Amino acid sequence: MKRPVLAANWKMNNGPTAAKKFMDAFLATYARRDDRTVVIFAPAVSLSTVANALGGRGDVLAGVQNIYWAEKGAFTGETSAPMARDAGARVTLVGHSERRHVFGETDDQCAKKCAAAIKAALSFMLCIGETIEQREAGETERLVKRQLREGLAQTENLISVDFSIAYEPVWAIGTGLTASAADASAIHTVIRSELREMIGTRANEIPILYGGSVNPSNAAGLLRAPEIDGLLVGGASVEAASWLSIAQT
Ligand code: PEP
Repeated sequence: MKRPVLAANWKMNNGPTAAKKFMDAFLATYARRDDRTVVIFAPAVSLSTVANALGGRGDVLAGVQNIYWAEKGAFTGETSAPMARDAGARVTLVGHSERRHVFGETDDQCAKKCAAAIKAALSFMLCIGETIEQREAGETERLVKRQLREGLAQTENLISVDFSIAYEPVWAIGTGLTASAADASAIHTVIRSELREMIGTRANEIPILYGGSVNPSNAAGLLRAPEIDGLLVGGASVEAASWLSIAQT
């Protein structure tokens, strides 16, 4: 039996007031469940609100959408891993496609962020995935393998580190186009076997999530695929009612 990870990425939505309203509505209905893990990746300004609403609940975790790799200093506008941890985050996204494609984040920067997260006792979820041009050029496998290898390259002792991977084809994010369960599964299989080359059988325990236009109608079908260990959901996670429906899939 798999124990899925259902992750909400609010993107740049839900500031502290809206976050409080969301958490009140979500937690009023979402009773503790030990058969899955829910993560809410909130904007940094809403992290404390989410973490405080959760109290000590271990089945729903607060996450941050991005960190910077230095611990502190003259990096105006950035949030370090220890600061995110202090505000209640237990997990961070790294290399979300909007970070890579809107803000120009590189594999090397992703690698620094993964390493910084672990140093601060934050788990990380490394996001990888191809653009439509790369897919049409037949480059998907080569690309995801590169993003995986390079993104994980600076994390010491990877075999014993707590992390997950989100396969998010760029062409499916926020577009309404979803990869079929079969398409996603094929790439998840590539990712798993690459991970096996890197960390042996420990790779079997690493959750590989799918993300890209997941909604309450398609979540169950995707989650049924044996290779899909969870879902990373953007637009459909911003409202509590829609997120509740997906989290309870
Ligand atoms: C995301 O933000 O990670 C995402 C997959 O977005 P959406 O669900 O809106 O495609």
